[in-house]
Amino acid sequence: MNHALTELKERLAVINDLHEAVALLSWDQHTYLPPGATAARGQQLATLSKLSHQLLTDSAVGKLLTALESVPLAPDSDDAALVSVTRRLYDRASKLPSDFVEAFAKLHTQAQQRWAEARRHKDFAQFAPLLAEIVAMTRREADYLGYLDHPYDALLEGYEPGMRTAEVKRVFAELKGPIVALVQAIKAQSRLSDAPLRQPFAEAKQEAFALEIAQAFGYDLSHGRLDRTVHPFAQSISKYDVRITTRYNPEYLVPALFGTLHETGHALYEQGVADEYYRSPLGEVQSLGLHESQSRLWENLVGRSLGFWQYAYPKLQTYFPALNAVPLAEFYAAINRVEPSFIRVEADEITYNLHIMVRFELELALIDGTLAVSDVPEAWNAKVTEYLGITPPDDALGCLQDIHWSMGGIGYFPTYTLGNVMSVQLFEAAKRAHPEIAADIAQGRFSTLLAWLRDNVHRHGAKYEPSELLVRATGSRLNAQPLVGYLEGKYRALYGLA
Ligand code: ZN
Repeated sequence: MNHALTELKERLAVINDLHEAVALLSWDQHTYLPPGATAARGQQLATLSKLSHQLLTDSAVGKLLTALESVPLAPDSDDAALVSVTRRLYDRASKLPSDFVEAFAKLHTQAQQRWAEARRHKDFAQFAPLLAEIVAMTRREADYLGYLDHPYDALLEGYEPGMRTAEVKRVFAELKGPIVALVQAIKAQSRLSDAPLRQPFAEAKQEAFALEIAQAFGYDLSHGRLDRTVHPFAQSISKYDVRITTRYNPEYLVPALFGTLHETGHALYEQGVADEYYRSPLGEVQSLGLHESQSRLWENLVGRSLGFWQYAYPKLQTYFPALNAVPLAEFYAAINRVEPSFIRVEADEITYNLHIMVRFELELALIDGTLAVSDVPEAWNAKVTEYLGITPPDDALGCLQDIHWSMGGIGYFPTYTLGNVMSVQLFEAAKRAHPEIAADIAQGRFSTLLAWLRDNVHRHGAKYEPSELLVRATGSRLNAQPLVGYLEGKYRALYGLA
């Protein structure tokens, strides 16, 4: 049995090395790759992905798994988790015929180009035929993968292991009413100004400040680096090399500052995975929701809190003396201004979740077959009007704004709000365990919080499904109430609501 386990681990380590090479090539593609090398890079990535897929779906891996499943491994042991996590990856990869995977990948490339053109022309009709093909192939994908209740379950599983459509519906239903009501109450108040954030901010100083805070949070630059890109992301090459990227607006502080704190949260997660999971699937975090819980925790629950800025604002003022004229309370209000808007990625902490609900409900209807692709713009605009009280003037500000569907990413969107929900559950559990965390943050000490996250979340890598990890860490299953309570408490105070 030891022999089977050793052989499985050796095979998985090789696959992991290929994944790391793909990660590095992909990071390079989005940062420094000369434009003339794009096609060659695409070929390199395709070859490596094909190789790692072949190694994973090798029938020898299936035989090793079957052999290991026939003997009891200690429950809750890393070895038992390795077998079940690998089984899940192996089954998903093996169920899709390779000609289907290849055809779908080609469709993605074509659809992304068409989506970009359609968005430029603000004309959904140009993208509609491709989206119809994507929906049809996604339905086939769900059928290949299998599901019990709803085909959307099979899609969710790829982004959030163990998550089910019914569970997402339950949590979103708990959120929707209170959030819509809060947005309406805020809209009835006088608006907060974000003028202090919209003035000249030298890029080099923005970078230096953001890096200072990222390091104070615990981001280890001897195992990471910060570069510039158009669409910011965090990329783990291995836990020993976790890189983040950001973009700068010299007239607006928010994108680089909060973008960097967000990506730092992702990076802290990857840097914190247990050393013993290196070169194993247990070291590759599978849940996008948990990942987003970490980025949102550092960006919002810490980075947009008053306590944090009691520590950080004097520092920021030394970088940007123009802010000496802006009192802390005004700055805090500016970074937390709530304003219904059309574009998801620019949305505030509250309305962001409504953008996600719109997408989730439309995706379900598309996969159900209850919504025709040609009716997407109308359905989109109706929901945005209902939830946010504003109506998109065109498709670019509406249903064409996100790249996800053109990449076949139906099922991805809910993980953003699941991350927001989990972030508050985890933060509250950390503060219950260490009531001094709030005072620590106001003093610029983040080590107690980070240590709790390391022990309860980061170190476990992919060992537990998100629902199990959440119960272990917080004592509760997925629950929207902490997020509702946090948003109501914070924003009722900020906007002087009853
Ligand atoms: Zn993120």
